[in-house]
Amino acid sequence: MLRLSYGTAAKVGIIKAKIAAEPTTAYIMLGEKCVSNCSFCAQARTRGRSDYLSRVLWIPCDEKILSHLTNFSRICFQVLDYPGMVDDIVDALKNVPKDSRVSVSIVPISFEDMKHIKDAGAEGISIALDAVTEDLFKKVKGEYVGNRFRWNDVWRALEDATKIFSIVNTHIIVGLGETDRDIYTAMVKLANMGVSVALFSYTPIVGGNAPELNRYRNIQLLRYLIFRGYSDIAEFDEGKLSVLRVPLSERKNIERGLPFMTSGCPGCNRPFYNERPSGNLYNYPFLPDTHSVSKDMKLLQSYAHIEWIQ
Ligand code: SF4
Repeated sequence: MLRLSYGTAAKVGIIKAKIAAEPTTAYIMLGEKCVSNCSFCAQARTRGRSDYLSRVLWIPCDEKILSHLTNFSRICFQVLDYPGMVDDIVDALKNVPKDSRVSVSIVPISFEDMKHIKDAGAEGISIALDAVTEDLFKKVKGEYVGNRFRWNDVWRALEDATKIFSIVNTHIIVGLGETDRDIYTAMVKLANMGVSVALFSYTPIVGGNAPELNRYRNIQLLRYLIFRGYSDIAEFDEGKLSVLRVPLSERKNIERGLPFMTSGCPGCNRPFYNERPSGNLYNYPFLPDTHSVSKDMKLLQSYAHIEWIQ
């Protein structure tokens, strides 16, 4: 079963809808029902069938739609966890337009299955950690919620993936109960492995609270600087970011809002996954305006000391 994200469906004309930001990537959900049970997810097996993933509504459609996804810089398949998922994604990849840049987001799978997906035409793969410590992982997507995945499985799969794909990505959710230092430690390790990070704010669709926006902005800047290759940029006080050392040479990019835009595979802007279009935008799906960025610069300083360095 295929579903297109609401914005993707609107952009290809399957539904009539006004959208506040066009998706630059086509988002497709593959599979009807997930056998896994991640605590933060609307698709979890104990939640019954849902047409939502995060805040996004998904529109069922025919497989023929795949050949019409031409007006996007990337096609992203978000594969639910179910028996037969690898065969289904390999089949689906045969139907996308030639020369499409495709990423596949999937649970940890074997080296051989990853190779099948690569050989079928995927450029990139995303295997979500979601939680940044082993204890949290157990609680939200490991043994405590009845999933078969283990923390080490995801790291093994990411390591394998770097030997197969030119783009390897993982997801980190901010707001599951981790410290800033936990996120920093995980991101440095991932950067060293050649794995990019897509940041998400925890979306309270099943209880709990979204992270404070000032904390999230600092984590976004931390991610940006780590993946620009800077080290020794952060100090922590009992796990909370206290000082962020920011090279002056990055000031222009930061004041354009680049660190606060959606992160992930190239060409992905994932509009409104985490937020209502009318509310605070955790990840901007477009370049933010100067008014928004000047608010963000103040938010940054309200959480940690920003030290500009030469
Ligand atoms: S494996 Fe993915 S789709 Fe399934 S419950 Fe976990 S996060 Fe949701």
